[in-house]
Amino acid sequence: MKGTTGFFFDELCFWHSAGMHALVLPVGGWVQPPAAAGFAESPESKRRLKCLMDVSGLSRQLALRSAEPASEADLLRVHPQAYLQRFKTLSDAGGGELGANAPIGPGSYEIAKLSAGLAIAAVDSVMRGEVSNAYSLSRPPGHHCLADQAMGFCFLANIPVAIEAAKAAHGLGRVAIIDWDVHHGNGTQSIYERRDDVLTISLHQENCFPPGYSGIEERGRGAGQGFNINIPLPPGSGHDAYLQAMGSIVTPALDRFAPQLIVVACGYDANGVDPLARMLLHSDSFRAMTALVKQAAERHCDGRLVMVHEGGYAEAYVPFCGLAVLEEMAGIRTAVEDPMLALLQLQQPGTAVSQFLQGHVERLATQLA
Ligand code: ZN
Repeated sequence: MKGTTGFFFDELCFWHSAGMHALVLPVGGWVQPPAAAGFAESPESKRRLKCLMDVSGLSRQLALRSAEPASEADLLRVHPQAYLQRFKTLSDAGGGELGANAPIGPGSYEIAKLSAGLAIAAVDSVMRGEVSNAYSLSRPPGHHCLADQAMGFCFLANIPVAIEAAKAAHGLGRVAIIDWDVHHGNGTQSIYERRDDVLTISLHQENCFPPGYSGIEERGRGAGQGFNINIPLPPGSGHDAYLQAMGSIVTPALDRFAPQLIVVACGYDANGVDPLARMLLHSDSFRAMTALVKQAAERHCDGRLVMVHEGGYAEAYVPFCGLAVLEEMAGIRTAVEDPMLALLQLQQPGTAVSQFLQGHVERLATQLA
Protein backbone atom coordinates (compact mmCIF):
# COMPACT_ATOMS: atom_id res chain seq x y z
CA MET A 1 0.00 0.00 0.00
CA LYS A 2 1.68 3.18 -1.20
CA GLY A 3 1.45 5.83 1.47
CA THR A 4 1.76 3.23 4.19
CA THR A 5 4.67 2.54 6.52
CA GLY A 6 5.67 -1.11 6.81
CA PHE A 7 6.67 -2.50 10.20
CA PHE A 8 8.59 -5.77 10.17
CA PHE A 9 8.96 -7.71 13.41
CA ASP A 10 8.73 -11.21 14.82
CA GLU A 11 8.29 -12.31 18.43
CA LEU A 12 11.01 -14.93 17.89
CA CYS A 13 13.60 -12.15 17.60
CA PHE A 14 12.86 -11.33 21.24
CA TRP A 15 13.82 -14.89 22.21
CA HIS A 16 17.50 -14.52 21.33
CA SER A 17 19.36 -14.86 24.62
CA ALA A 18 22.89 -13.81 25.53
CA GLY A 19 23.03 -16.10 28.56
CA MET A 20 23.72 -14.97 32.13
CA HIS A 21 25.01 -11.38 32.31
CA ALA A 22 24.45 -8.22 34.32
CA LEU A 23 24.59 -5.40 31.72
CA VAL A 24 27.69 -6.58 29.78
CA LEU A 25 29.36 -8.40 32.70
CA PRO A 26 29.29 -12.21 32.72
CA VAL A 27 27.88 -13.48 36.00
CA GLY A 28 30.49 -14.95 38.32
CA GLY A 29 33.18 -13.75 40.72
CA TRP A 30 31.98 -10.40 42.09
CA VAL A 31 29.19 -10.04 39.55
CA GLN A 32 25.87 -11.04 41.12
CA PRO A 33 23.31 -12.70 38.84
CA PRO A 34 20.72 -10.16 37.67
CA ALA A 35 17.20 -10.00 39.06
CA ALA A 36 15.50 -9.49 35.73
CA ALA A 37 16.94 -7.56 32.83
CA GLY A 38 20.31 -9.33 32.55
CA PHE A 39 22.45 -8.64 29.51
CA ALA A 40 22.30 -5.05 28.23
CA GLU A 41 21.07 -6.18 24.81
CA SER A 42 17.82 -7.67 26.09
CA PRO A 43 14.41 -8.02 24.41
CA GLU A 44 12.60 -5.70 26.76
CA SER A 45 13.37 -2.32 25.11
CA LYS A 46 12.21 -3.71 21.74
CA ARG A 47 9.15 -5.54 23.02
CA ARG A 48 8.04 -2.43 24.93
CA LEU A 49 8.33 -0.39 21.71
CA LYS A 50 6.01 -2.83 19.93
CA CYS A 51 3.65 -2.77 22.95
CA LEU A 52 3.53 1.05 22.99
CA MET A 53 2.78 1.00 19.25
CA ASP A 54 -0.09 -1.39 19.97
CA VAL A 55 -1.68 0.46 22.89
CA SER A 56 -1.29 3.86 21.18
CA GLY A 57 -3.15 2.58 18.12
CA LEU A 58 -0.21 3.21 15.79
CA SER A 59 0.23 -0.49 14.92
CA ARG A 60 -3.26 -0.60 13.44
CA GLN A 61 -2.33 2.15 10.97
CA LEU A 62 0.83 0.46 9.69
CA ALA A 63 1.38 -2.58 7.46
CA LEU A 64 2.54 -5.17 10.01
CA ARG A 65 4.63 -8.01 8.62
CA SER A 66 6.95 -10.81 9.58
CA ALA A 67 9.42 -12.34 7.13
CA GLU A 68 11.26 -15.47 6.11
CA PRO A 69 14.74 -15.92 7.60
CA ALA A 70 17.62 -14.77 5.40
CA SER A 71 18.67 -17.60 3.10
CA GLU A 72 22.15 -19.08 2.91
CA ALA A 73 22.60 -17.31 -0.45
CA ASP A 74 21.59 -13.98 1.14
CA LEU A 75 24.14 -14.39 3.94
CA LEU A 76 26.95 -15.54 1.63
CA ARG A 77 26.83 -12.23 -0.27
CA VAL A 78 28.33 -10.63 2.87
CA HIS A 79 29.64 -13.35 5.21
CA PRO A 80 32.15 -16.15 4.42
CA GLN A 81 30.93 -19.74 4.77
CA ALA A 82 33.51 -20.50 7.48
CA TYR A 83 32.17 -17.74 9.74
CA LEU A 84 28.55 -18.85 9.28
CA GLN A 85 29.55 -22.43 10.09
CA ARG A 86 31.36 -21.33 13.26
CA PHE A 87 28.29 -19.32 14.34
CA LYS A 88 25.90 -22.23 13.67
CA THR A 89 28.11 -24.75 15.45
CA LEU A 90 28.33 -22.63 18.64
CA SER A 91 24.61 -21.89 18.51
CA ASP A 92 23.76 -25.59 18.07
CA ALA A 93 26.01 -26.40 21.02
CA GLY A 94 23.96 -24.13 23.30
CA GLY A 95 25.85 -20.86 22.92
CA GLY A 96 28.89 -19.04 24.30
CA GLU A 97 31.13 -16.15 23.22
CA LEU A 98 31.10 -15.83 19.42
CA GLY A 99 33.21 -12.63 19.47
CA ALA A 100 34.18 -9.62 21.58
CA ASN A 101 31.12 -8.66 23.64
CA ALA A 102 29.07 -11.04 21.50
CA PRO A 103 27.60 -13.84 23.62
CA ILE A 104 24.91 -16.07 22.13
CA GLY A 105 22.48 -18.65 23.45
CA PRO A 106 20.85 -21.75 22.00
CA GLY A 107 19.20 -21.11 18.63
CA SER A 108 20.75 -17.68 18.17
CA TYR A 109 21.91 -18.59 14.65
CA GLU A 110 18.33 -19.18 13.44
CA ILE A 111 17.05 -16.08 15.23
CA ALA A 112 19.84 -13.94 13.74
CA LYS A 113 18.87 -15.22 10.28
CA LEU A 114 15.29 -14.13 10.99
CA SER A 115 16.53 -10.72 12.17
CA ALA A 116 18.43 -10.27 8.88
CA GLY A 117 15.39 -11.61 7.01
CA LEU A 118 13.21 -8.87 8.50
CA ALA A 119 15.66 -6.24 7.20
CA ILE A 120 15.71 -7.91 3.77
CA ALA A 121 11.90 -7.90 3.63
CA ALA A 122 11.68 -4.28 4.77
CA VAL A 123 14.04 -3.13 2.02
CA ASP A 124 12.38 -5.38 -0.55
CA SER A 125 8.87 -4.08 0.21
CA VAL A 126 10.06 -0.49 -0.21
CA MET A 127 11.89 -1.33 -3.45
CA ARG A 128 8.76 -3.00 -4.83
CA GLY A 129 6.64 0.00 -3.83
CA GLU A 130 4.44 -2.14 -1.62
CA VAL A 131 4.93 0.41 1.17
CA SER A 132 6.33 3.94 1.09
CA ASN A 133 8.89 3.37 3.82
CA ALA A 134 9.57 0.63 6.33
CA TYR A 135 10.94 -0.14 9.78
CA SER A 136 12.58 -3.43 10.70
CA LEU A 137 12.59 -4.28 14.41
CA SER A 138 15.60 -6.52 13.85
CA ARG A 139 17.09 -8.29 16.87
CA PRO A 140 19.86 -9.24 17.29
CA PRO A 141 21.29 -6.00 15.84
CA GLY A 142 23.96 -5.86 13.13
CA HIS A 143 26.08 -2.73 12.75
CA HIS A 144 29.19 -3.92 14.64
CA CYS A 145 29.37 -7.25 12.81
CA LEU A 146 32.30 -7.60 10.40
CA ALA A 147 32.08 -9.98 7.46
CA ASP A 148 33.93 -12.68 9.42
CA GLN A 149 33.67 -11.57 13.04
CA ALA A 150 30.87 -11.06 15.56
CA MET A 151 31.20 -8.04 17.82
CA GLY A 152 29.19 -5.89 20.20
CA PHE A 153 25.94 -7.95 20.37
CA CYS A 154 25.96 -8.24 16.53
CA PHE A 155 26.26 -11.57 14.67
CA LEU A 156 25.04 -10.88 11.14
CA ALA A 157 25.37 -7.60 9.23
CA ASN A 158 21.62 -7.08 8.81
CA ILE A 159 21.82 -3.88 6.74
CA PRO A 160 24.51 -5.00 4.24
CA VAL A 161 22.74 -8.37 3.88
CA ALA A 162 19.48 -6.53 3.08
CA ILE A 163 21.13 -4.06 0.69
CA GLU A 164 23.01 -6.78 -1.20
CA ALA A 165 19.78 -8.80 -1.52
CA ALA A 166 18.08 -5.73 -3.03
CA LYS A 167 21.00 -5.13 -5.37
CA ALA A 168 20.71 -8.74 -6.57
CA ALA A 169 16.90 -8.63 -6.91
CA HIS A 170 16.28 -5.09 -8.11
CA GLY A 171 19.55 -3.87 -9.63
CA LEU A 172 19.64 -1.21 -6.92
CA GLY A 173 22.45 1.35 -7.42
CA ARG A 174 23.53 3.98 -4.90
CA VAL A 175 22.55 3.41 -1.28
CA ALA A 176 23.24 5.72 1.67
CA ILE A 177 23.46 4.28 5.18
CA ILE A 178 23.14 6.71 8.09
CA ASP A 179 24.06 5.19 11.43
CA TRP A 180 22.91 7.22 14.43
CA ASP A 181 23.40 4.45 16.97
CA VAL A 182 25.62 6.00 19.66
CA HIS A 183 28.40 3.52 18.90
CA HIS A 184 30.58 3.61 15.78
CA GLY A 185 29.11 1.66 12.87
CA ASN A 186 32.39 -0.15 12.38
CA GLY A 187 30.97 -3.32 10.84
CA THR A 188 29.06 -1.51 8.13
CA GLN A 189 32.09 0.70 7.48
CA SER A 190 34.43 -2.29 7.09
CA ILE A 191 32.06 -4.08 4.70
CA TYR A 192 31.63 -1.04 2.42
CA GLU A 193 34.84 0.98 2.85
CA ARG A 194 36.19 -0.04 -0.60
CA ARG A 195 32.92 0.64 -2.45
CA ASP A 196 31.68 3.85 -4.05
CA ASP A 197 28.07 2.65 -4.52
CA VAL A 198 27.27 2.65 -0.78
CA LEU A 199 27.82 5.83 1.23
CA THR A 200 28.25 5.10 4.94
CA ILE A 201 27.87 7.85 7.55
CA SER A 202 28.21 7.18 11.28
CA LEU A 203 27.35 9.70 14.00
CA HIS A 204 28.59 8.41 17.34
CA GLN A 205 30.02 9.18 20.76
CA GLU A 206 33.76 9.69 20.37
CA ASN A 207 35.90 6.81 21.72
CA CYS A 208 32.93 4.86 23.08
CA PHE A 209 32.78 1.48 21.26
CA PRO A 210 34.55 -0.23 19.69
CA PRO A 211 37.99 1.04 20.77
CA GLY A 212 40.85 1.59 18.37
CA TYR A 213 39.59 3.42 15.32
CA SER A 214 40.89 6.68 13.95
CA GLY A 215 37.59 8.49 13.58
CA ILE A 216 37.27 11.32 11.12
CA GLU A 217 40.36 10.23 9.12
CA GLU A 218 38.65 7.01 8.02
CA ARG A 219 37.08 8.20 4.76
CA GLY A 220 37.05 4.96 2.79
CA ARG A 221 39.74 3.10 0.83
CA GLY A 222 40.54 2.64 -2.83
CA ALA A 223 37.44 3.15 -4.97
CA GLY A 224 35.55 3.86 -1.75
CA GLN A 225 37.68 6.89 -0.86
CA GLY A 226 35.34 9.69 0.20
CA PHE A 227 32.34 7.39 0.60
CA ASN A 228 32.71 6.79 4.34
CA ILE A 229 32.07 9.61 6.80
CA ASN A 230 32.58 9.47 10.56
CA ILE A 231 31.13 12.15 12.82
CA PRO A 232 32.54 11.60 16.33
CA LEU A 233 30.77 13.77 18.90
CA PRO A 234 31.97 14.39 22.47
CA PRO A 235 30.10 12.83 25.40
CA GLY A 236 27.35 15.22 26.49
CA SER A 237 26.31 16.10 22.95
CA GLY A 238 22.56 16.57 22.73
CA HIS A 239 19.77 17.64 20.43
CA ASP A 240 21.46 20.77 19.06
CA ALA A 241 24.82 19.12 18.27
CA TYR A 242 23.15 16.19 16.49
CA LEU A 243 20.79 18.40 14.48
CA GLN A 244 23.69 20.68 13.56
CA ALA A 245 25.71 17.65 12.38
CA MET A 246 22.72 16.33 10.44
CA GLY A 247 22.15 19.72 8.80
CA SER A 248 25.74 20.71 8.07
CA ILE A 249 27.33 17.31 7.27
CA VAL A 250 24.80 14.52 6.68
CA THR A 251 22.24 16.34 4.54
CA PRO A 252 24.85 17.93 2.21
CA ALA A 253 26.56 14.53 1.82
CA LEU A 254 23.23 12.94 0.89
CA ASP A 255 22.52 15.72 -1.61
CA ARG A 256 25.93 15.23 -3.26
CA PHE A 257 25.54 11.44 -3.39
CA ALA A 258 21.86 11.38 -4.54
CA PRO A 259 21.04 7.92 -3.17
CA GLN A 260 18.42 5.62 -4.68
CA LEU A 261 17.62 4.27 -1.21
CA ILE A 262 18.36 5.54 2.31
CA VAL A 263 18.81 3.05 5.16
CA VAL A 264 19.18 4.20 8.75
CA ALA A 265 20.95 2.09 11.38
CA CYS A 266 18.43 3.29 13.93
CA GLY A 267 19.93 2.91 17.38
CA TYR A 268 18.47 4.79 20.34
CA ASP A 269 21.42 4.58 22.73
CA ALA A 270 22.23 8.28 22.27
CA ASN A 271 19.16 9.01 24.42
CA GLY A 272 19.80 10.90 27.63
CA VAL A 273 19.20 8.01 30.03
CA ASP A 274 20.96 5.16 28.22
CA PRO A 275 23.22 3.05 30.48
CA LEU A 276 25.87 2.39 27.77
CA ALA A 277 26.61 5.93 26.57
CA ARG A 278 26.65 9.56 27.67
CA MET A 279 24.66 11.52 25.11
CA LEU A 280 21.53 13.61 25.70
CA LEU A 281 19.03 13.00 22.91
CA HIS A 282 15.29 12.67 23.51
CA SER A 283 12.28 11.62 21.48
CA ASP A 284 12.01 14.99 19.71
CA SER A 285 15.65 14.60 18.57
CA PHE A 286 14.89 11.24 16.93
CA ARG A 287 11.70 12.72 15.47
CA ALA A 288 13.63 15.66 13.97
CA MET A 289 16.43 13.46 12.58
CA THR A 290 13.83 11.18 11.01
CA ALA A 291 12.16 14.19 9.40
CA LEU A 292 15.50 15.21 7.86
CA VAL A 293 16.25 11.79 6.34
CA LYS A 294 12.64 11.44 5.18
CA GLN A 295 12.89 14.77 3.37
CA ALA A 296 16.21 13.70 1.80
CA ALA A 297 14.59 10.44 0.65
CA GLU A 298 11.73 12.44 -0.88
CA ARG A 299 14.21 14.71 -2.71
CA HIS A 300 16.31 11.87 -4.10
CA CYS A 301 14.51 8.55 -4.21
CA ASP A 302 10.74 8.81 -4.16
CA GLY A 303 10.76 8.60 -0.36
CA ARG A 304 12.47 5.19 -0.22
CA LEU A 305 13.60 5.02 3.41
CA VAL A 306 14.19 1.97 5.62
CA MET A 307 14.99 2.06 9.33
CA VAL A 308 16.69 -0.97 10.85
CA HIS A 309 16.65 -1.15 14.65
CA GLU A 310 20.08 -1.27 16.33
CA GLY A 311 21.00 -0.43 19.95
CA GLY A 312 19.19 1.32 22.80
CA TYR A 313 19.25 -0.03 26.34
CA ALA A 314 17.07 2.25 28.46
CA GLU A 315 14.09 -0.09 28.61
CA ALA A 316 11.57 2.46 29.80
CA TYR A 317 12.65 5.19 27.39
CA VAL A 318 13.55 3.56 24.06
CA PRO A 319 9.84 2.96 23.27
CA PHE A 320 9.10 6.71 23.29
CA CYS A 321 12.02 7.44 20.96
CA GLY A 322 11.05 4.59 18.63
CA LEU A 323 7.42 5.68 18.59
CA ALA A 324 8.52 9.19 17.57
CA VAL A 325 10.52 7.74 14.65
CA LEU A 326 7.61 5.62 13.49
CA GLU A 327 5.11 8.46 13.87
CA GLU A 328 7.34 10.69 11.73
CA MET A 329 7.82 7.99 9.09
CA ALA A 330 4.07 7.35 8.87
CA GLY A 331 3.00 11.00 9.19
CA ILE A 332 0.74 10.07 12.09
CA ARG A 333 0.69 11.62 15.55
CA THR A 334 -0.75 9.43 18.29
CA ALA A 335 -1.94 10.74 21.65
CA VAL A 336 1.24 9.48 23.35
CA GLU A 337 3.31 12.13 25.09
CA ASP A 338 6.93 11.47 26.04
CA PRO A 339 6.89 11.61 29.86
CA MET A 340 10.68 12.20 29.97
CA LEU A 341 10.80 14.99 27.40
CA ALA A 342 10.69 17.96 29.76
CA LEU A 343 13.38 16.46 32.00
CA LEU A 344 15.70 15.61 29.10
CA GLN A 345 15.26 19.02 27.52
CA LEU A 346 16.24 20.52 30.88
CA GLN A 347 19.44 18.43 30.83
CA GLN A 348 20.68 20.17 27.70
CA PRO A 349 24.02 21.79 28.37
CA GLY A 350 24.36 25.47 29.24
CA THR A 351 25.80 28.14 27.03
CA ALA A 352 29.55 27.43 27.39
CA VAL A 353 29.10 23.74 26.61
CA SER A 354 26.72 24.55 23.75
CA GLN A 355 29.27 26.90 22.22
CA PHE A 356 32.02 24.28 22.57
CA LEU A 357 29.82 21.67 20.87
CA GLN A 358 28.78 24.08 18.13
CA GLY A 359 32.44 24.87 17.42
CA HIS A 360 33.30 21.16 17.44
CA VAL A 361 30.66 20.34 14.82
CA GLU A 362 31.69 23.36 12.73
CA ARG A 363 35.31 22.12 12.69
CA LEU A 364 34.16 18.62 11.71
CA ALA A 365 32.01 20.03 8.91
CA THR A 366 34.98 22.01 7.59
CA GLN A 367 37.32 19.02 7.74
CA LEU A 368 34.78 16.74 6.06
CA ALA A 369 33.70 19.22 3.38
ZN1 ZN B 1 24.95 1.09 20.12
